[in-house]
Amino acid sequence: MQLCRFNNEQLGLVQGDEVIDVTAALQVLPACRYPLPRHDLFIAHLDAVRDEISRLVAGVADLPRHRLTDLTLLSPIANPGKVIAAPVNYLKHLQEAREDQAIHHQNQIGEIQRVGLFLKATSSVEGASAGVEIARPDRRNDHEIELVAVIGKTGRHIHAADALSHVAGYCVGLDMTVRGPEERSMRKSPDGYTVLGPYLTTADEITNVDDLDLLITVNGEVRQHANTRDLVMKLEELIEFASSFYTLHPGDILMTGTPEGVSQVFPGDHMEAEITHLGRLVVDIHPN
Ligand code: MN
Repeated sequence: MQLCRFNNEQLGLVQGDEVIDVTAALQVLPACRYPLPRHDLFIAHLDAVRDEISRLVAGVADLPRHRLTDLTLLSPIANPGKVIAAPVNYLKHLQEAREDQAIHHQNQIGEIQRVGLFLKATSSVEGASAGVEIARPDRRNDHEIELVAVIGKTGRHIHAADALSHVAGYCVGLDMTVRGPEERSMRKSPDGYTVLGPYLTTADEITNVDDLDLLITVNGEVRQHANTRDLVMKLEELIEFASSFYTLHPGDILMTGTPEGVSQVFPGDHMEAEITHLGRLVVDIHPN
């Protein structure tokens, strides 16, 4: 199942180029009072929402339908508790980062096994349609296309062998980055610098997460083109690694790292980022 959030906090079932408005399915979510749970409510109750969507689509003849391209796409996850990200998780990107001063800025670029993971601010999360506003025009601002896994159930000390059962689904991610000397958590967390979408593809749709093509073009020119088979630390290992430090909650975002080919983007640029089976994220760059 492919599910988008669109326009005014609506929920859509994506079927090819068409979206069926299934917002009514959100009524199965429990009411929430302060303090809110640490998890994302939609993902924590995804099975119940999916059942309700199936019931609606089978039983209600006049659900509104839209063209996907006509919609304002929001982040498919509204309230992730945290955004975990993998630095330099493709060997060729490790090499380019070490060789290019404009990327490394005297920061030591170490292997992921040694430097570990980092967190991005949840306030940086946006959907495709918001576009990216360049936060620091005085700096190099780069795109990084990444496979994103959305955690589906709570877990700590998850074993790699069991890790994929903790994944609710996948989407395309852009880990937008201001280059410079500061910590990653700061440079990668301006508002809008975590772009997720175009929609959530549930995990049952993906048979082999270790063989997905990633492609990003800027103004029609290919910048990054790689495959998840070249991940240094596979998704299963990333989940084991992350959960050895943090409890993972439904709706937590895990960005798996970017391959080689990162490059600068400028206001007016048009990015299209796609991953096999996960759709295409269409994102414009705006001035600040
Ligand atoms: Mn990244």
